[in-house]
Amino acid sequence: MHTFDADTERLTAAVIDYVSQRLRLNPVPLDHGVDPATLAASAPSLISEAGHPFEIVLEQFSDVLAPAVISCDSPRFLSFIPAAPTKASLLFDMVVSSSSLSGISWLEAAGAIHAENSVLRFLSDLAGLPSEAGGCFVSGGSAGNLSALVTARDTARRRDGAGRRRSTIVVSDQAHSSISNTANIIDVELLTAPTDHEHRLTDAGIRAALETHHERADDVFAVVGTGGTTNAGIVDDLAGIARVAEERSWWFHADCAYGGAALLAPSVRDRFNGIEHVDSFIVDPHKFLFAPFDCAALLYRDPELARRTHTQDASYLDVIHGPDSVWNPTDYAYHLTRRARGLPLWFSLAVHGWGAYRNAIETVLATTRAAAQRIEAAPHLELIRAPELSVVLFRRPGWTSVQYERWSTSLLDDQIAFVTPSKWQGETVARFAFLHPDTTLELIDEILETMR
Ligand SMILES: *Cc1c(COP(=O)(O)O)cnc(C)c1O
Repeated sequence: MHTFDADTERLTAAVIDYVSQRLRLNPVPLDHGVDPATLAASAPSLISEAGHPFEIVLEQFSDVLAPAVISCDSPRFLSFIPAAPTKASLLFDMVVSSSSLSGISWLEAAGAIHAENSVLRFLSDLAGLPSEAGGCFVSGGSAGNLSALVTARDTARRRDGAGRRRSTIVVSDQAHSSISNTANIIDVELLTAPTDHEHRLTDAGIRAALETHHERADDVFAVVGTGGTTNAGIVDDLAGIARVAEERSWWFHADCAYGGAALLAPSVRDRFNGIEHVDSFIVDPHKFLFAPFDCAALLYRDPELARRTHTQDASYLDVIHGPDSVWNPTDYAYHLTRRARGLPLWFSLAVHGWGAYRNAIETVLATTRAAAQRIEAAPHLELIRAPELSVVLFRRPGWTSVQYERWSTSLLDDQIAFVTPSKWQGETVARFAFLHPDTTLELIDEILETMR
């Protein structure tokens, strides 16, 4: 099991062969969801005392389990937020796994952390944060939002002193579900501010909420702006939010899990003006920075504040905080053990250069704008709003939610595309989320045709 014997030699060849074939699929098949009864029949449990020849197990995976997973890296996957990891990042993910890197502390993993930090530096510079800014990679945007907002709360409590427990975060109703989940976990309240006519959180909206709920105003310790809402790709007025946050000494967190990669894209960079004022922000490389799951970058303007909140104290850990401790990623989020999950992005970014990333993002943004034009031009369809990033919301006038669902199911059954309906202001609508640079306008035309 732990020695590289003849069986392991054969296993290595088989796994590398599988990986190599998966990476060569162009495009990957979309595949299907499968109901539990079918899977129970076609993939009986292989967990036993004695085990099985690896060929049997690998065969169940490749023939039954893998095709029962919808490929989110297919150019035909246009639901939720798709994925489009680069080949270099996927391959390097295998290197990270094979190297058993534990990315907790500088003591154990200096080399890996040094490389991860170069990527965090790059992202921090894109946002315009000062050179002291830093953070770590966590498993996802939800983990990043949670860790940042716990730091925000603790920082306010340290500053306010005993006897005062501010416990309200200002958000808009477009904020990601992970923000209300965070509020629930850390037992704080949300104050929902109205958005402007373009559904953006602005300083005026926040001021209006403070006026309406003046009794809660002194209880606020943080505000969350979104840099690309997941449902509609709307970027809040980050500069306006920063003004209120500054005036009121609130922590300003920007949730750029989906949209943050667009900081690299000149055509939309100015929508993010004001991000340079944040106290913390997140961006998910497993979304629009073409990295494999699961990877979110969490950055703080003043990482020392996060370190005070998140450093775990245990006698067996004292040694990682000794005099040679340079940077322990574990100290900047709620986790302890962590995979060095920034490395696949580091490798791919170093190999391809950020110019290739910028171009890929701009390609997707251009596809999105062209798709919106096609929808506007189609007499049977209505565009709901001009896309800001790479999400398009539109409607087929006359359709009920049941019709949208049937349409979505038949697109997947026919392996044309995976497009799930969404909601906009209570109405069921169609939604495209673009992320794969290889998604074509021919595919869009094909999908729009099915809505006549
Ligand atoms: C995806 C997303 C999240 C959650 O990120 P996970 O990586 O899925 O945990 C949070 N906020 C926004 C805006 C997102 O798009």
